[in-house]
Amino acid sequence: MPADGPEPVETYVLKGSRLAKRLRAEIAASQQHLLDVGGEPPRLATLIVGEDRAAIAYRSSIERTFARAEIDVLRAELPGDVSEQTFLEELRELNRDPQVTAVLVLMPLPAHLNPHLVLENLSPLKDVDGITPTNAGRLHLGLPSLRPSTPAGGLALLDHYGVTLEGARVTVVGRSNVVGRPLATLLTQRDATVTLCHSKTVDLDRETRRAEIVCVAAGHAGLISRDMVSRGTVVIDFGVNVTDEGKLTGDADFDGLMGIAGAITPVPGGTGPVTALTLAQNTMAAGFAALGGNLDYVDYALPDRLQQKINDATREGVEQPTAS
Ligand code: NAP
Repeated sequence: MPADGPEPVETYVLKGSRLAKRLRAEIAASQQHLLDVGGEPPRLATLIVGEDRAAIAYRSSIERTFARAEIDVLRAELPGDVSEQTFLEELRELNRDPQVTAVLVLMPLPAHLNPHLVLENLSPLKDVDGITPTNAGRLHLGLPSLRPSTPAGGLALLDHYGVTLEGARVTVVGRSNVVGRPLATLLTQRDATVTLCHSKTVDLDRETRRAEIVCVAAGHAGLISRDMVSRGTVVIDFGVNVTDEGKLTGDADFDGLMGIAGAITPVPGGTGPVTALTLAQNTMAAGFAALGGNLDYVDYALPDRLQQKINDATREGVEQPTAS
């Protein structure tokens, strides 16, 4: 930066671990509320087909998070060469099993199994990551639904750190059905003005520079560089990429954005830890859907008395982010 250039801004690091205490308290209260009103103890089933290392690592992190939240996780596994018919039988068995509240099919599936099989055959009531057409459609229509955990976690992070969404210009980079697109919907429902970008966007840097908040989920290491954001921009990075040295890195150039971004989530340690906790919240929500028999019973809000207890226990208030 030239000597006579503007002063660098202080960049805050938005760590996901800082939300964990509050989210865990909310999950415990939600679980208690579910049992109080006659629901079954919630249980998540994970289904892995084959031995994909990323899927196995994600399952381990879910199991650790759920163990801490005292929620049961059932492992279902099928060999990588399983037939489509056997795969569908397993999925339908999990749909029917009254002991299973929610189901997560870990991606990627082997090439011979089309991911659409999951979208079309998973019960919407157990669709813990909100991927089925029913939940996706209900989300877009503003009806009660099970929400995709990654974008819902991103919103929880923004709220935790007190980032104002109403009226904010937000650029979302990535339009996948699991992250970018539902994130754009959730942000719009919170009265942000959203621009949704993708690989065919012309002049991506123009779209990111005019945003007060940039959310990136492209799977492209270092895509958001220093010259692509304005001073003070909040950068939420969902990207998970592995470098040649085997390290995890995000879609934003974390080091390069220091001194220009107002705040940024690190990778690892930003959005990632929040995703598994949001899945636990969704498992509770699926428990309420099961109890009521339809998705109208999905309700993420806690009764006032429980919310008040959590506020008292976690000292309600917006957390100050940590400076870099
Ligand atoms: P995806 O299905 O591959 O979608 C990537 C999106 O990014 C697509 O819409 C693509 O555009 C867009 N894109 C790719 N390169 C681009 C570029 N150079 N400029 C602008 N847009 C570009 O990926 P995903 O499942 O959404 O995942 C995205 C990233 O988030 C991955 O790194 C993944 O590992 C990570 N992730 C993180 C979490 C978490 O908890 N933090 C959870 C899920 C995924 P087109 O539509 O035009 O192809």
